Order: sequence, then structure tokens, then C-alpha cells
Amino acid sequence: MAYQIKKAAVLGSGVMGSGIAAHLANIGIPVLLLDIVPKELTDGEKAKGLTLEDGQVRNKIATSALQNLVKQKPAPLTSKSNLSLIEAGNFDDDLEKLAEVDWIIEVIVENLEVKKGLYEKVDAVRKPGTIITSNTSGISIEAMKEGRSEDFQKHFLGTHFFNPPRYLKLLEVIPASTTAPEVVDFMVGFGEDILGKGVVIAKDTPNFIANRIGTYGLLVTLREMEKRGYSIGEVDSVTGTLIGRPKSATFRTLDVVGLDTFMHVAKNVYDKTEGEEQQVFELPEFMKKMIDNGWLGAKSKQGFYLKKDREIQELNTETFEYSKAKKLKTPSIEMAKQQKGLANRVKSLVYAKDRTGEILWNVFAPTLLYSAELHGEIADDIVAIDNAMKWGFAWQQGPFEMWDAIGVNKSVERMKEEGEVIPAFVQSLLDKGYESFYKEVEDELYFFDGEDYKPVPVNEKEIDLRRYKKKHGVIKKNSGASLIDLGDGVALLEFHSQSNAIGLDIMQMINFAVDEVEKNFKGLVIGNQGRNFCVGANLGLILMEAQDDNIFELDFVIKTFQNAMMKIKYSSKPVVAAPFAMTLGGGAEVCLPAAHIQATTETYMGLVEAGVGLIPGGAGNVGLYAKHLKGMPNGVVVDYQNVANKVFETIAMAKVSTSAEEARDNNFLNFADGISVNADHQIYDAKQVAISLHDNGYQAPKRQKIPVTGSSGYATLLLGAEGMFLSGFISEYDLKIAKKLAYVLAGGKVPYGTFVEEQYMLDLEREAFLSLVAEPKSQQRMQHMLVKGKPLRN
Ligand code: NAD
Repeated sequence: MAYQIKKAAVLGSGVMGSGIAAHLANIGIPVLLLDIVPKELTDGEKAKGLTLEDGQVRNKIATSALQNLVKQKPAPLTSKSNLSLIEAGNFDDDLEKLAEVDWIIEVIVENLEVKKGLYEKVDAVRKPGTIITSNTSGISIEAMKEGRSEDFQKHFLGTHFFNPPRYLKLLEVIPASTTAPEVVDFMVGFGEDILGKGVVIAKDTPNFIANRIGTYGLLVTLREMEKRGYSIGEVDSVTGTLIGRPKSATFRTLDVVGLDTFMHVAKNVYDKTEGEEQQVFELPEFMKKMIDNGWLGAKSKQGFYLKKDREIQELNTETFEYSKAKKLKTPSIEMAKQQKGLANRVKSLVYAKDRTGEILWNVFAPTLLYSAELHGEIADDIVAIDNAMKWGFAWQQGPFEMWDAIGVNKSVERMKEEGEVIPAFVQSLLDKGYESFYKEVEDELYFFDGEDYKPVPVNEKEIDLRRYKKKHGVIKKNSGASLIDLGDGVALLEFHSQSNAIGLDIMQMINFAVDEVEKNFKGLVIGNQGRNFCVGANLGLILMEAQDDNIFELDFVIKTFQNAMMKIKYSSKPVVAAPFAMTLGGGAEVCLPAAHIQATTETYMGLVEAGVGLIPGGAGNVGLYAKHLKGMPNGVVVDYQNVANKVFETIAMAKVSTSAEEARDNNFLNFADGISVNADHQIYDAKQVAISLHDNGYQAPKRQKIPVTGSSGYATLLLGAEGMFLSGFISEYDLKIAKKLAYVLAGGKVPYGTFVEEQYMLDLEREAFLSLVAEPKSQQRMQHMLVKGKPLRN
């Protein structure tokens, strides 16, 4: 049977249920969100004369969860308009509607009996073939399906999302013994391709993979901190980004998760294990006391940390007093920072003979050993375990990758010296004379499966550019960018400068790439796999030239930038831009002229030049204006002023989208552009678009004149800006920048509706840019951004 999910139901609208419903709506799947009927009326409801029979009261829990979605940070919705895809209801009145959905996901309280009670009711109304899953954090999947019909049992499995569902990549899929294999296969494919998740198959064991190892690691850290007398801040200063873990490290992570939630997760393993393992899952006394005190972390504004008079304070777990958070300062930290790459850094830290080395070794060693002991029990292979930790806990490397980094032989020797028992899985690796859990041969990665090395399965949609280049080399490379042959007639231009900022080297490569593609390829993808697509033009370079009054050089740079953008736009072969994460200033300008944009869901796009005292100088003004015009339906009488107003507001306020969908609302993308929900598929998706555009007879756009609003439009734009200045929203200097921008967008002093040459608009843009860059206040803004990393309002 081929499965298809056109509509879903989420049962339970709490923290996770509402987040999962939002994630589905973001993807475009309509959702029925049900919850319990309240047992009592509030005073407010009584005063309004409402009864427990009123629909608005009965659906209240799910309805208020929906209202909350719009307020939460980070935003669960990629666009507020997605809310219209979610219909709120309740278990008593709407259960029959479950017969209309293709997937039911249960996300109610973590209680076996309550879950089983609900399943019994669901079993009576669901149509055969409907997939039903539980989001349980750790209740046995096998126990939950007991007593259900055969068709239910065939279609029942665990789908464990991580909080917040929109942002955390991991989805653990946990089959029951009765789940049909085709249902498992479908869920894995659906999870990756449609939900955009990193899927791992987990076995039905307490807390599955990521929470089992993650909780263990956190509890070991707590124990070692107490035993060895470190402070909370000290531990966090070395267990976060320094070792490739999230900035929130150990204790801030616990504060964010909530100590009460963490307690439940830990207790779940505690109840199901015994002996030494069980002891680790017992919460330390100080944590129990914190929970009794109601110091649960972020939700109670107090936990391991407390913010007092703008000072971050840490809890002393003996005296229960707060004082200014400390950091570890040891020579090994300084030395590690000199090391190239995470693996070398961690290796140098773990073996260091100082306070940093001591805590890290004593946290790493047990966590690695525990992961190896559980191998086979919680997952089939180490790849699943490493992926689960990377996707669920945002570690840059999983435990076995870390183990390779610090050296398996060297670490095992020390573990043995310290009296540790080495798991058979690790011993068998060493007995065979092997030295690492993974090995890379050419571009292929292999993992140790207990017997020998096996290739890590490769999904053809996940193109790893680093490994790809290793095998295929590059066509041409300079300091800022490389041109790569992606195969099937498509080339890829990869930025790799510092923060992927655009300088002359990248502009040169754009010109070269388009020439090369026009001769020898079907199309070009502009994309990369750095932290951000591109944070803008090289501001340091611009400021340096500006401070030296090198206006002639700057004029050359801006012209070169604009010309490179026109080269992209008028390429006879399709250019597909693949932005993701921060796509700011020049980064957004590179995308605007492309034949197609293939963004990822998490694309934060904006022309932010006003923040540094400038306006876009790489064809961004006319680019956004023209893209907005192009997005208007044919045959509609366009109000150019409305278009100019919207573009003006977007650029003058330096608006950055919080998702690709919002970038579409701001007209950086239009409806022909695509969004890859799975960021790992983006390059593949962009490549397919380039091929399809080419094969469908792609033609470069015609050079067309652009209708502008002229003098009257300029006056209208100015009126708005002056209003904002007079009401104190913007500074006098903001107003000056806004005037320059208004002049460019209005197309200068021409009558409303005049059609002007694109080059004329580019010249206006360049003149305005050059006049602003010479201003001391703009230079102060640039300087501030470069030094402090945030905008200056002067
Ligand atoms: P929550 O407390 O925020 O929401 C629980 C929901 O269950 C509420 O909407 C509540 O109205 C409903 N509910 C309460 N009693 C009920 C009953 N008797 N019958 C039916 N529904 C009832 O909890 P949550 O954090 O969203 O967790 C929901 C599920 O997801 C649990 O199984 C939990 O283990 C799992 N989970 C939670 C997280 C997390 O980080 N919070 C992460 C992954 C999985």
C-alpha cells in the first residue's frame, strides 16, 4: 500500500503538540489539533454566562495553544498565516474527524494508561491504513499498542520529535514488533523528504537514543562538578562551543529544558535500569532541592543561573547562594584555541594536565564508554547514535566521532589504567588492529560495525561538498570561491571566504563561473555549506577604502559588483541561488538576479545596509523593486507607488526575514522560487531545478525598461520617512539615508510612470552609495559593526 499524508491530526496541544502542529502547517499540511475538554469554567467565563457546553469553552485548550504559537520565541510558525491550516477541536466532540486524516500523532501527557485509554477511542474511529504514532519521550512502544486492533498495531510506531520541533533536526522513529516494514520505510522517507528531519531508527528502549546518552552525559557532568569542586559557570565555560557543543553548554541547557522536565526524563531511565547505571540516573541532592524550591530554570526565572542587576550569577550548589558566574581560565584553553579544527582542539583539551583537562576527561570517558556499551541495544549502529546526538543535542560531533578525534588507542589505554572495563565492541575494534570507528577512503565514509568496516549509507539527496570536492576536485579556485563540477551538466559556485563575505575575489569568480557555464554546462548553482550563505559584502574592505578617501577605487568595486549581478541575471544558462541561514546585504543581492532561488526553510534574508549607514550597492535596490514587480500577476494594473513603498520600507528598516516564507512576504522570493524543508537536500534540489530549467528551454530575461514613481513617488516616500523622524522612530542620520534610498527607488526626477533603463537605476544606486560611504557617520556605523558586531544608531 502506498501511503500519502494529505491531512494530519495532532492529539494534545501542549508544548510539543502545538509545536508539531505548527511544523506541519509550515510545510503546508492541514492539521486537526485536539485536546481535552476543560472540567471547570474560569471566573471570566462564568461572568460571560458561558457554560461547559459552549464550543468556545470546549475547544479552549487547543484554541489557546494556537494563540500562543504566534507569541512564542523562537517562532514555531514560519509565517503567521500558516495558523489558518490548523483547526482546533476536542477529544469528545471531534474524534470522528480522525477518519478524515492520514496520520494521527499522539502528543498527550507522558502516562501509559492515559495514552492507552485514548488509543482505544482512536481505534474505534480511525479508518484502516491510517498511520498512528506516539511522540512519547520514553514509554515502551510495545506496551502502548497492547490490546489494539490488528490494523492499528500494523500502523503504530513511535515518532519522537525534539523541542522545538521546527528547529531541532532529529526525529527518532521507533518501530514496534508489529509495525509493518512498509510503514516504517514510509515514515523514514516522509520524515526526511517532507518533514525535513534527520531520521534515525531507534530501538524500543528507555528514552531511545539521544535522551539516553544525552541525559547520562549531563548527569555525569553534574556528578563530576560536585566531586571535583568546579563552579557551574566554570563547567559551562568548557563544555559548550569550545568542545563543539551548543553555547548553552551543560547548565544553561538544563535551565532552558527545565529541571522538572529533566527530572522526568532521568527518572524514566532510573526506573528501568539497575546497578551502577541506575545510580547515574539518580538526580543529585542539590538538584532535588532546587526542584523543591521551584528553581526550575528559565520558566521560573531562576535555576542554575539568575540574572540580577544585569549580572549573570551562578548558583553555589552547597550554600545555595548566587554570585557572579565564573569561567575556567587555564593554559590549555588558550592552546586549544590555536589548534586547527574541532578534533584537534578537543584532543588537546581532554589530555591537558590542568583543571580543564581534568573535568573534560572525566566527563568524556564515561560518556564514550556508555555509548559503546549501549551500541546494539539502543540502535543498530554507531552512525545512528552519532547522528542522534548531533541532530537532537546539536553536538558538532557524535560520541564515536569524538572518540576517533581523541584517539581510540590512547584513550582506551588511559581508561584501562584507571580501572575501567572496556566494552567488547571497542575491544574487538582494537583486537583487529583498527584505530578508529570511522575511516574515509577517497570520498567514501566507512564505519565499524563490530566485525568490520561497512560503508555509511549515502542518501543521493545529501551532497556533502567537502567530500565531493575531495573526489572530484575543483574547476577553478581563488581565495574567496571555487567553481565545482556537480555532474549532470551543472556547476556550483561555492563561497568560502571569511563569513562568506563578498570581495573582489568572489566577484571575479562569478564572472568566470557564468562564462564557463555558458560554454560548457546546463546551469549554475550558487551555494555553499558554511555556517551562513553570506553575511554581505566585505565591510572591512569598504571602510578601509572609504577612510583613505579612495572614492575612485570604491566606484570601481561597486561597478564590478553591479556588473557581476547583471552577469548572473542575463546569463544565457539558468543560475540558481541557494541561500540559507544568514543571507544579508550582498548575500541577498546575489540571489535577486538569479533565474530561481532555492532557499531552505531557515533563511534569514534582508538588505541590511542602512544599519551600517549605507544603501545596497550591488544592484539590490533595483533588484528587489524589479523582483516585486515581476511577482505581480499579469494583466493587473500595478500601483507602482505601492511597490516602491513596500521595497522602501524593507530596505530602510533593514528588515530581515525570520524564514524563507517571510522572505517571500518581503518579495525576495516569489511563488516560482522554491523552499527546501530539509537543508541537507538543498544543493541537490537546486541542481534539479537548474537541469529542469535548462531542459525546458531556458532563455535569459530580456533587457526591459523599468517603470518608476519619479518625483511624486520620491515625495511620497519622503513624507513617510519624515513622519517617522518627527515621531522619534528614526534619527536624523537615518532620515538622510532614507532620502538617498527614496531617490534611487523612485528613479530620480522623472514623471510618475516613466520607464527607465536598468543601468540608469544602477547609476543612481552607485552615486548614492558613494556619497554615503564618504560620510563620517556612515564610517562610524561601519566601524562599530566591524568591532562590536551590532549596529550603531547615530
Ligand atoms: P504538555 O504538558 O505541554 O502537554 C500535554 C498535553 O496533554 C496537554 O495538551 C494536555 O491538555 C493533554 N492532557 C492532559 N491530560 C490528558 C488526558 N487525561 N487525556 C488526554 N490528554 C491530556 O506536555 P509535552 O511536553 O507537550 O509532552 C507531550 C508528549 O511529548 C509526552 O509524551 C512527552 O513525553 C513527549 N515529549 C516531550 C518533549 C518536551 O521537550 N517537552 C520532547 C519530546 C517528547
